[in-house]
Amino acid sequence: MNDARIAEERIDRLADFARELARAGDDERAREAVRLARRIAERHRCGLPRRFDRFTCDACDSYLLPGRTARVRLQEGSHVVIRCDCGATERYPYRG
Ligand SMILES: [Zn+2]
Repeated sequence: MNDARIAEERIDRLADFARELARAGDDERAREAVRLARRIAERHRCGLPRRFDRFTCDACDSYLLPGRTARVRLQEGSHVVIRCDCGATERYPYRG
């Protein structure tokens, strides 16, 4: 198993861990898990997987859990707007 693969697996585990922590209400530790995953991704220049990146706030590194740490709404049927509790918003095409 090469380094990049190991990094991906660590990031995957951190994503699961961050989600569990956010669900449990431990926002600060969830944020630490997000930051650690970002650092690993940077070191390996692989970026966060999209499915994880979309659940993190670029402004405060919070794990975005709809209904708890984030609000989600559809915009004109074609975009999803996620607003973090810190006030930052991210906008994505509905598909992809
Ligand atoms: Zn935020």
